[in-house]
Amino acid sequence: MDESKSIVVLGGGVGGVVAASKLRKKLGKEHKVFLVNRRSEHIFYPSIPWVMIGDREPSDISRDLSRLEKKGIEFLKTEVTNIDPKGGVVKLKEGDDLSYDYLVIALGADLVPEKVAGSKDLSEVSDGVYNFYNVMEVVRLRDGLKSFDSGKVVVLVSGLPYKGAVAPYEATFVSEHFFRKRKLRDKVSVHLFIPEPAPLVAPVTEKLFEKRDIGFTPNAYVDSVKLEEKEIVFKNGEKEEFDLLILIPPHQCPEVIEKAGLTDETGWVPVDNEILKTEKYENVYAVGDSNYIELPAGGFLPKAGIFAHRQSEAAVEDMVAEIKGKESKKKFDGKGMFVIEAGGGKGIFVTAEFFKPEPVVKTKRPRVSRMWHLGKVMFEKYWLRHWF
Ligand SMILES: Cc1cc2nc3c(=O)[nH]c(=O)nc-3n(C[C@H](O)[C@H](O)[C@H](O)COP(=O)(O)OP(=O)(O)OC[C@H]3O[C@@H](n4cnc5c(N)ncnc54)[C@H](O)[C@@H]3O)c2cc1C
Repeated sequence: MDESKSIVVLGGGVGGVVAASKLRKKLGKEHKVFLVNRRSEHIFYPSIPWVMIGDREPSDISRDLSRLEKKGIEFLKTEVTNIDPKGGVVKLKEGDDLSYDYLVIALGADLVPEKVAGSKDLSEVSDGVYNFYNVMEVVRLRDGLKSFDSGKVVVLVSGLPYKGAVAPYEATFVSEHFFRKRKLRDKVSVHLFIPEPAPLVAPVTEKLFEKRDIGFTPNAYVDSVKLEEKEIVFKNGEKEEFDLLILIPPHQCPEVIEKAGLTDETGWVPVDNEILKTEKYENVYAVGDSNYIELPAGGFLPKAGIFAHRQSEAAVEDMVAEIKGKESKKKFDGKGMFVIEAGGGKGIFVTAEFFKPEPVVKTKRPRVSRMWHLGKVMFEKYWLRHWF
């Protein structure tokens, strides 16, 4: 049962780092754990709103994945070009093929701004358009905000699904506060458009929108963004002009996963909700943004780091139990918690239980507080120290 196994983890984001580290901790040295990521660094995305206003540099929120080697994880910095789940082999852009006994797919979601804005590299096309989900674009956005003293700021979620449900709210609240602090609010308007019926934790966020005079439009489904004209065209024919656009680009499952035949008609990987095994292959797990989980109430589990993290723990638990010939106890339960950075050093604490007959999403008192912001800062410090 417990003979030597080779386990390959694809992706060095939240899910991959947790999976590889937990596997290394729980399995003896006779087993090999590989982690493959196309870039050398891991980025802690929840800190992006602070990069936007200059409170963090990209280097403050990045860690070199080669640091995982001190734990005994073999890190390979290269692109995954092919997954052959039948043969149990992964092909890499550089280096030999990797054979595995078990595979953990944690390749996240690819961002495809060209699907709405006609260009992957927004920086080359327009000064006033920024991809909020790309750290270097957020550095460009920081400069854009600094030199912006009047006009319309629009935060636009351009498609479903998107990761980091709190992030568009944070982009909105934090940029609004940035202009308020600089006493420019009478000259700068801020508006959030989302392609969903209700905002996250609606009563609290809606109250803040009202109090801070932030425009908010739910059910806004984008057709295209005209970069040169600085105009958004919505599916219902309505148009919206902007002077500065903070774009949450469309997402799609990485092509290498689709080519492996692991996705279904949703475009994402179907998995067992509790142990994250793929439906087709007993020895292949998919955690985090690459998978989808259907909820009892209908709809899908939001894509979030907290879920990637907790799903990895459950997948590892199941795999280790199988290797050791035991029964796994820890299952993924659809629970998570988030802090929405609300600007001005304040935050909103949200807890969520998605496997209930209806999702239960609550905010804790005090609703908008410095305490929750400090909690988010502490979690950032913990994450970057604990895993690296
Ligand atoms: C601005 C922002 C703020 C956010 N805030 C929060 C928050 O407050 N709370 C929260 O829970 N979530 C938040 N999220 C969401 C969270 O970051 C993601 O849900 C989480 O990172 C998903 O983890 P993952 O492991 O599935 O994918 P990722 O973390 O995206 O990791 C995927 C990795 O795979 C690599 N990769 C992809 N394809 C290949 C390939 N072919 N070959 C090699 N490597 C490849 C990528 O480079 C990447 O390193 C936020 C996201 C953003 C963008």
